[in-house]
Amino acid sequence: MRRPLDQRFLDEARELDFRYTCRDCIHACPFDGHCSLLYPNDELLRAEFAVDSEGRLIFCKYFELT
Ligand code: SF4
Repeated sequence: MRRPLDQRFLDEARELDFRYTCRDCIHACPFDGHCSLLYPNDELLRAEFAVDSEGRLIFCKYFELT
């Protein structure tokens, strides 16, 4: 069963410093944030937690923590 993003997740993510968006990815350009792998990352770059229209988390499978 998929669980949409909820307050519990947000609380735990902040407590554990969960990072997974372009802002913390080694592939993001340090100057403008564009993806060096040319993935269209406008949404992932801006979001603290990127979600789809049903509130489910969106992950990039190429993410690598800086
Ligand atoms: S590899 Fe994925 S997470 Fe990393 S910058 Fe590109 S789009 Fe963002």
